[in-house]
Amino acid sequence: MGGKIFGIDLRKSPVALERPTAQKNNSSQSVIEVRRPSMDHIKRPSIAGLGKKHSDKKEKDRSLSKDKHAKDASRVLPQPKPVKLTMIMESPPALFIDPPAQSTGALISGRLQVTPNAGDVVINSIVMYLECTTSTKRPVQDRCRECSSHITDLYEWNFLSKPTTFHAFDGMQELPFSHLIPGHIPATTHGHIGGIEYSLHVRAKTNDGKEIESRRDLIISRALRPGNDKNSVRIFPPTNLSLHVTLPSVVHPIGDFPVQCRMTGITTKREDSQVRWRLRKLTWRVEEHETMISPACAQHAAKVGGEGKGVLHQHDRDVGNEEMKQGWKTDFDDGQVEGEFMIGIDSSKLPQCDVEAPNGLKITHNLVLELVIAEEWAPNKKPHQATPTGAARVLRTQFNLSVSERSGMGISWDDEMPPMYEDVPASPPHYLNDHTSVMDYTGDDLQEDMEQFTLDR
Ligand SMILES: [Zn+2]
Repeated sequence: MGGKIFGIDLRKSPVALERPTAQKNNSSQSVIEVRRPSMDHIKRPSIAGLGKKHSDKKEKDRSLSKDKHAKDASRVLPQPKPVKLTMIMESPPALFIDPPAQSTGALISGRLQVTPNAGDVVINSIVMYLECTTSTKRPVQDRCRECSSHITDLYEWNFLSKPTTFHAFDGMQELPFSHLIPGHIPATTHGHIGGIEYSLHVRAKTNDGKEIESRRDLIISRALRPGNDKNSVRIFPPTNLSLHVTLPSVVHPIGDFPVQCRMTGITTKREDSQVRWRLRKLTWRVEEHETMISPACAQHAAKVGGEGKGVLHQHDRDVGNEEMKQGWKTDFDDGQVEGEFMIGIDSSKLPQCDVEAPNGLKITHNLVLELVIAEEWAPNKKPHQATPTGAARVLRTQFNLSVSERSGMGISWDDEMPPMYEDVPASPPHYLNDHTSVMDYTGDDLQEDMEQFTLDR
């Protein structure tokens, strides 16, 4: 496995997941302590019934029933089911507004339709579960269903209080249902290594022991309200360069968003001459970082060194990038270069929204900017007669991007979130930082450009 054992006991944390995020570990997996993925961690005491799990007996009973159905389907000719179960959703798509700590949730409502197929039928129970399925594409044991996915019931509707006869001549009968899904649970996510899905699962049992099941996916999205733009300042010691960047507080997996950039300190004037940095190339890249803890089932716990442990997997990818060689305005007199450009996340890569789930699935996004600058020298009397010195640098910096679905219509815009300035360094700027780096630039493309550039002047 080659993994690394982390000495973290997630059971100590009420939020279940506080990994050291500064862990610069390039290996793709590590063994860490983990609980079985369970919604218990995110249970709010005030919401009755949430996080209620089937007892082990019921869980076993249910998986047996599924297996039995699978066998029935392959061996016996299909037999008409005593009733047909269909579902009509009346509520709009489930959308949580605001982050988990503040969201008021989403109301779902609909009607369960029960239609006798062949004569009158007595139904003992009709139960519907709001299920959460967490899954990993990198199970501890290949092809083990218990290692790969886990189902938790978040809510349960019992439609019948006693055995009830559904008469054929009455036709379809409708059973209404509704529920307020609490807003702190993670939204539906289809990551590269981990997933969270919700469904409504109905089970009806007849008085002669037949069982009818029906399942419908329920997609839950989350939208963060747009707030004021975020202003960030990044410095690049030992140079005098400062980069001022303005980004939207929230961006979306589909569509473009504007970025304003201004770099100051590009000109250093001496008595007779000046040395200055010319921006030659700007590259942006949107990175998606996903981590997931694959739990081991009881049977395979030994593979990860005992129960309560799992394997941490990481997956990083780019979901958009572009290289630009023009589109900005340089003013050596003022000593600054500025421009605005559009950034688009590539929707063909099926980017995910940010998520952090108690089972260890976490997806975040970064915007990485790289600026290639070339040094040149000019006499103060003739500032346009510049000569490249041959020195070139790459300035690299990154910003957190908050990616969520669009909040769309129906949002009260009168209570926007306060501006967030956490990226602006306290003044005076400190010279030790993790945000930026300056490196020598060794690319060939710039040298070619620079020869041309020299001839032009
Ligand atoms: Zn297993």
